[in-house]
Amino acid sequence: SNKTLTATNPANDNVLNEYATLSKDDLARKLDQTRESYPAYSQLPLEERARRLNVLADLIDEHKEEMATLIAREMGKPYQQGLSETQISSSITRFYADNLDELMDPEPRDVEGAESAMIVKDPMGAVLGVMPWNYPLYQVVRFAAPNLAGGNVCLLKHASNVPGCAELITQLFHKAGFEEGVFTWLPIGAEMVESIINDPIVCGVTLTGSEEAGRKVAQQAGAALKPSVLELGGIDPLIVLDDAEIERAVDLAIAGRFDNTGQSCAASKRLIVDKSLAKDFTARLIEKVKQMRMDDPLVEGIDIGPMSRKDLRDDLHDQVQRAIKAGAKLECGGEIPDRAGAWYPPTVLSNVTQGNPAFSEELFGPVASVVIAENEDHAIQLANDCPYGLGSTVVSKDLERGERVARQLEAGMSFVNRPTTPFAQLPFGGVKGSGYGREQSEYGFGAFMNIRTVYVA
Ligand code: NDP
Repeated sequence: SNKTLTATNPANDNVLNEYATLSKDDLARKLDQTRESYPAYSQLPLEERARRLNVLADLIDEHKEEMATLIAREMGKPYQQGLSETQISSSITRFYADNLDELMDPEPRDVEGAESAMIVKDPMGAVLGVMPWNYPLYQVVRFAAPNLAGGNVCLLKHASNVPGCAELITQLFHKAGFEEGVFTWLPIGAEMVESIINDPIVCGVTLTGSEEAGRKVAQQAGAALKPSVLELGGIDPLIVLDDAEIERAVDLAIAGRFDNTGQSCAASKRLIVDKSLAKDFTARLIEKVKQMRMDDPLVEGIDIGPMSRKDLRDDLHDQVQRAIKAGAKLECGGEIPDRAGAWYPPTVLSNVTQGNPAFSEELFGPVASVVIAENEDHAIQLANDCPYGLGSTVVSKDLERGERVARQLEAGMSFVNRPTTPFAQLPFGGVKGSGYGREQSEYGFGAFMNIRTVYVA
């Protein structure tokens, strides 16, 4: 069964490249190589693993233009945003290199009867990363850098529509010294994932993607008694409190909602605005959204590229139409342009209320939904009326008030006066339908480590 992975340019539907998938035998060989590579890799001195991570970070920086171009071609990300993606990716890689000693340091504990008692962290084997197309480089680095730092080896099952990105990323890892067997790309479809999870060398699986894929992979991992980390979507709130400065709130909302053409798990998908500001906020938002430039992702100065795939664009349009039927008001956008490719214009929906599809479903594209809140308490209640809980933002001039509101949100990440932003030093992940477990920081580092007790009496 020789399936192929096809890279298609979503700006014009042109086929860019085709990649053969692995046969069962090829896959078995790659898993054997991983099995053979793990013991030696896991015993490398920390300085050597840190050195390779620093080389990788430098390589990512050196290849940033090539990477951003490939990302633009394969999934439509505006070129400047692709450059930013390379920057956060190299900084995460350096974070784990710079902090590896501290992360691996045994932690002594004062325990009754012990001569010494401590917590140590050991690697456990190969971690399988099932990754999405929306940040083709950053998502891979976010799972691979901490695991390689800790002495685990990595298997990558990347999204089927970004095989060229997967190939270039793999070349950079190999060049940095994380050779085949230590970092291995498996060009395969989703149907092969279960057999990989069941392989004894695999110690756990991390997935970023849809709730549906998350449920399947978590079930398979559960059946194999292996840990999983799930980073699924969200319908994150951005709350604009009554003391917010409107211009600033609109700018934050636009950055939070339309970055990456709206295709981010932690995008500000519901703009929950205090009723005293709602009219002015919405008017200013519409004005600015109408000025956004949508064009080929390699054209300089554009704000919006095509979406990553036509099927996802069509799903989004269906959601927008259902939202309008259910009472939302279409303020701008909302029509599929007459051109080849997966285009969808920046769109604003107002009058979005509880129960509307734009309130209770994830809209994974350039559509902002404005929800009106009666007051602060109502805003919090609206924000928490959500099957997901990934990121969140509160906009207020009063930082204490902003923090107090932020602390009441059911989310893995809450930001005051900034859209949800990843930092290597801070945990990334959510609650409820957004999944479980954390990436980044010491928590992400520990996700697939054997956190051991060593007690000496
Ligand atoms: P998927 O969840 O289908 O894809 C994410 C990854 O999971 C891909 O590598 C995919 O492989 C893999 N996958 C899918 N199904 C399975 C399965 N049954 N077993 C194992 N692996 C699987 O997302 P889509 O690309 O289809 O996008 C659909 C929606 O998912 C979006 O509209 C958005 O709502 C959400 N999403 C969320 C993301 C996030 O950052 N949290 C990122 C991307 C999407 P393959 O590509 O081969 O199917």
